[in-house]
Amino acid sequence: MRIAIVGAGIVGLAAAHALLDRGHQVTLIDPGDQAARPTDGNAGWIAHTDIMPLASPKVWRNLPAWLMDPLGPLTIRPAYLPSLMPWLMRFILASSPVRIKASMAAIRAINAEALPSWKNLLFSLGLSTHLRENGILSVWKHHEAFLRAKDIIGRQRDLGIGIDILDRSDLAQLEPALRNVEAGVLYPEACHISDPADLASDLMRLALERRAQHVTARALAVEPKSSEIHVHTNDPAKVVVADRVVIAAGIWSRLLAKTLGDRIPLDTKRGYNATYPKGSFGLKRPIMFEGEGFVTTPLDTGDRVGGAVEFAGLDARPNHDRISAMIARLKRFLPDFDAYQDARRWMGFRPSIPDSLPVIGSSRRDNRIVYAFGHGHHGLTQAAITSQLVADLIDGKASEIDLKPYSAQRF
Ligand SMILES: Cc1cc2nc3c(=O)[nH]c(=O)nc-3n(C[C@H](O)[C@H](O)[C@H](O)COP(=O)(O)OP(=O)(O)OC[C@H]3O[C@@H](n4cnc5c(N)ncnc54)[C@H](O)[C@@H]3O)c2cc1C
Repeated sequence: MRIAIVGAGIVGLAAAHALLDRGHQVTLIDPGDQAARPTDGNAGWIAHTDIMPLASPKVWRNLPAWLMDPLGPLTIRPAYLPSLMPWLMRFILASSPVRIKASMAAIRAINAEALPSWKNLLFSLGLSTHLRENGILSVWKHHEAFLRAKDIIGRQRDLGIGIDILDRSDLAQLEPALRNVEAGVLYPEACHISDPADLASDLMRLALERRAQHVTARALAVEPKSSEIHVHTNDPAKVVVADRVVIAAGIWSRLLAKTLGDRIPLDTKRGYNATYPKGSFGLKRPIMFEGEGFVTTPLDTGDRVGGAVEFAGLDARPNHDRISAMIARLKRFLPDFDAYQDARRWMGFRPSIPDSLPVIGSSRRDNRIVYAFGHGHHGLTQAAITSQLVADLIDGKASEIDLKPYSAQRF
């Protein structure tokens, strides 16, 4: 079949390869001008060990303190509050114990397949050299805070996720540059990738080598007709005609879905980062600084500190003071790190749904149109398994994962 994929971010690119594998003709539609797409600036974690939705007791516990600090881990810009209200209401509803349990089960179902799917995809394309298998570390400043996380750590263990609990001296041995931490957990099976932008660029290059087409344009509307589907773009000369369409345009999918009759509560949790010259942090593996709202990653292209959740919509200017605040907090854990060197600063748009689950399913209007967006904090992690689920939907094949929790009509 002729498949048009709207959006060549990490989700669209992975889908392109899954569909090429199954013998389809693929056209990727993407203007290629979106500097804030998170595909390029994310932290590079394949965090399949993460099982908690954002609407979790941990977030609610910390929320009052975070909201008091305009540069803290989670901020809502006051001017954006009215627009965010419908999303927030759904977030509150997603926080009941029953809904948290359901979200966790659905996150686990997809994350359990995330790493094997990435390994298969990278291996089949000769890109396994992008994978770094050093584990991922979570650290806590205070032992009492770590004790509060024991419940979730227990649940991870019950799910068969490998966990090594570390005390202060274990941490000093594992990461000698790290200070002021009393407890940690090592997830030995979790991985990261060399650099997210490099991975995306390799996936695009190989898709084109495999005879996918790239139409450099912005999709404006998807028009189902009886025997085919037309994707109209901002260039009237570029109308893409396809048998099936995949919408994988991250946060920008919201408007396209709306024109197809699906009102999806998709909003952006803006995230920030700074990338320093390689080796600046002196850390060997990715680290989650629990309760601080940021992570670090030793990418091949530099040491990245990033995170934060800011609700401010797509149009507000980035607030780079958030990055300075993050760096100041990081410095307390890495006193030897030279924070005054030049660093690349960036802000990007996580495409986020209140229940922390992506949308993977058919549109209300026409089941020849398949959605794949809204992966929030886990879009890199879940891109490869999402691509398999999308290919199953396109082929009308039953998936091994029950797709009901990810349906576009669940809201
Ligand atoms: C600071 C930060 C750190 C993160 N760290 C991690 C991490 O470590 N691990 C992880 O798993 N996830 C992480 N994420 C989340 C992850 O980056 C995202 O979930 C993921 O990149 C989403 O990918 P996507 O392809 O859906 O969307 P995007 O990356 O937004 O790509 C969408 C694409 O669609 C295109 N597009 C938009 N509109 C149109 C249109 N109308 N027509 C055609 N094309 C269009 C854009 O140009 C873009 O190329 C992080 C995010 C942030 C912000």
